[in-house]
Amino acid sequence: MIATQYSTASEATGCQHSTTVLRVLGIIECRHPVASLAVLYWVAPLMGAAEVLSALNRAQAAQPAWASLSFRDRARVVLQARKIVLAELDEIGTLISRETGKPSAEALSMEIVPGLDLMHYFARHTARLLQPHKIDIGQYWLMGRSSQVVYKPLGVIGIISPWNFPWATPLAEVVMALMAGNSVVLKPSELTPLTALKIGEVFQRARLPKGLLEIVTGDGTTGAALTDAGPEAGLAKIMFTGSVATGKRVAASAAKHLTPTVLELGGKDPMIVLEDANLQSAARAAIWGAFCNAGQACASVERCYVHESIAPRFIELVVKETLALKQDNPAESEVDVGAMSNERQLRIVEEHISDALERGARVLAGGKRVKNSGGWFHEPTVVTEVDHSMDLMRDETFGPVLPILTFKTDDEAIKLANDSVYGLTASIWTRNIARGRRLATKVDAGTIMVNEVVYTHALAQTPWGGVKQSGYGRTHGRLGLLELVSPQHIHINRLSFLPDVWWFRYSTGASLLFHSLAKHFTSGSIIQSSLLLPQMIKRWRERRD
Ligand code: NAD
Repeated sequence: MIATQYSTASEATGCQHSTTVLRVLGIIECRHPVASLAVLYWVAPLMGAAEVLSALNRAQAAQPAWASLSFRDRARVVLQARKIVLAELDEIGTLISRETGKPSAEALSMEIVPGLDLMHYFARHTARLLQPHKIDIGQYWLMGRSSQVVYKPLGVIGIISPWNFPWATPLAEVVMALMAGNSVVLKPSELTPLTALKIGEVFQRARLPKGLLEIVTGDGTTGAALTDAGPEAGLAKIMFTGSVATGKRVAASAAKHLTPTVLELGGKDPMIVLEDANLQSAARAAIWGAFCNAGQACASVERCYVHESIAPRFIELVVKETLALKQDNPAESEVDVGAMSNERQLRIVEEHISDALERGARVLAGGKRVKNSGGWFHEPTVVTEVDHSMDLMRDETFGPVLPILTFKTDDEAIKLANDSVYGLTASIWTRNIARGRRLATKVDAGTIMVNEVVYTHALAQTPWGGVKQSGYGRTHGRLGLLELVSPQHIHINRLSFLPDVWWFRYSTGASLLFHSLAKHFTSGSIIQSSLLLPQMIKRWRERRD
């Protein structure tokens, strides 16, 4: 028996919140689906432009006081929120699992654990990561100048998030934005509003001042209202995570207002297994990389390229491991593969498989939807004899399917891996780390893992983001934090009693000095620059007269 997902109800709605409401919903959902739909609609309403603008107003009003606090004071709130999460691990895990269909084990390992780690990291390290720093301005220091960069909060950050990691993805961006001194308006996916509202509730209980984390529930129209608001309404930046199609709409709307935007979009991530790879590890990594989260991770292994010499043994291991996976009610602790989060995505998986079969592919394991399961289950599927004419090898499948193709040379493997409009992550499997590192630089993707798959999104310290249609900008790590601040250059002249030699008025002497500056000052040599001193003194005198 498969548990009903909250999303059956939430698909039709967009969610104000309290733990009590969430509990009530959980209790009545099983017995009275219609009443549960009504409660859900009340909890997570479809908000319009007026509500989005009010949320932006509140966030804008609350932000300056928050920005004036020390990093330590902000960290106190984040660490308090972290304590609350730790105390409610199972409750939160169950909520995520019910709302998405993923196994509770994955809610814990792929969402809650990385979130806790990230909260700890940014609470402890944001002050260091955003410390003002001096810039080497070369020879200009000889003129008594110095430069420094300081990092200022941007204001209100609009976060628009998808349904596949409804806890980890928005939580990370909320924590980083808050630690940097911003306030947040969060628009979660209409399919997973309850998890987002739980994030809001946790911060509310951690005594985050009112207005700093506003959650606007609803569908694409609510998201569009947020991006359409622009800086005029106080929106300083958009952090969007979702599909390429929506990403393009968000970018177009942001362009109208020149709102800075980070886009974290889809992927079609390749895994390259070289002939010297540890086959057992590579096979296990391939199936976890392709089937974890029911294949609905932006960094899922969506294409596997195996050296022809090891392909038969590799495929045999992959099929054996796949057939041993347990797929069932995600609430059960020993389930490996849960349900997909929505029927639309399940249909895309079916379409990709049927297109591949029509073009000559072979299914070696799985291959179809699980009927009469009470949820959107698709069997973990291994497909061979694929090529790049197939949708399965070109478009994001976002489901539990592992297509495997063979290659003969390293160059061919790189060419196949790069033959995609996407470039989020990639992995290379080899016992020779130097070879792996060398090949890694040839793959077009934001993250390349050698002997690993998928998981670096869980590393708070490392940048996350793609190239090509996988988007632009970064989240996570220092690079991600820098997206949430405005770098300000502060330049000081300690010799202001001397006029600058390049100021008016120009003269023959000035031209001679500028020639000397071109030849000597720009050489980078202190000795050559100091030879200019007599000419400079002459110019200063001339300026004084
Ligand atoms: P989606 O693009 O359908 O929706 C994402 C969010 O955008 C939702 O909150 C949605 O309501 C909102 N939205 C829809 N129309 C909008 C509009 N016109 N203006 C503003 N907001 C709008 O994506 P999805 O189906 O929720 O998520 C799956 C996609 O997300 C996949 O392509 C996956 O690869 C991608 N993803 C990427 C990353 C990453 O880090 N690169 C992480 C997770 C998911």
